[in-house]
Amino acid sequence: MSERFRDTGERLWMLAREILVVCPRCGGRAVVVVHPDHRDCDHGPHDKVMAPHRLSCPGCGHTDAWTPRRARKGDGDLFFAGGPPLAVPRMTGPEDPFFGLPLWLRHRCRGRILWAYNAAHLDLLEGYVSARLRERHPYTGSGSLVEHLPAWIKAAGNRDEVLAAIRALRTRL
Ligand SMILES: [Zn+2]
Repeated sequence: MSERFRDTGERLWMLAREILVVCPRCGGRAVVVVHPDHRDCDHGPHDKVMAPHRLSCPGCGHTDAWTPRRARKGDGDLFFAGGPPLAVPRMTGPEDPFFGLPLWLRHRCRGRILWAYNAAHLDLLEGYVSARLRERHPYTGSGSLVEHLPAWIKAAGNRDEVLAAIRALRTRL
């Protein structure tokens, strides 16, 4: 933990390489990753987010597969790959964007849910919330992850409670 936090412009999709979720079969900790057979998926948000994903649970052996589906009315962002438009998974929380499963790292805080995809995401949140001085990234374009954080996480008055929630989540790792 440091006094100063420097925004490196990290986006949520960059942290989504490994998403910890609650296993739908046993309730243990499962993980969602880009399918291991998939190549060339790290060039940008769409290559990454639209790649096939796999769910696997080390506890019970459950696996599941996800591939992009055709867009429906009311879907947000669309992805065009030559055929009919595909729905871009929404990178939000507190569910995973692919299977819609509850995230493993979620904790009630200030009447809301603090959530993270993985340990690196928790590190980023903790560094940001605990810092006394926050330096903006000069070229964030559409906005970095921390710029999109909700106001209740950024509020100085909530700092201690948010940090306590982050510590509670670390015990689940
Ligand atoms: Zn399981």
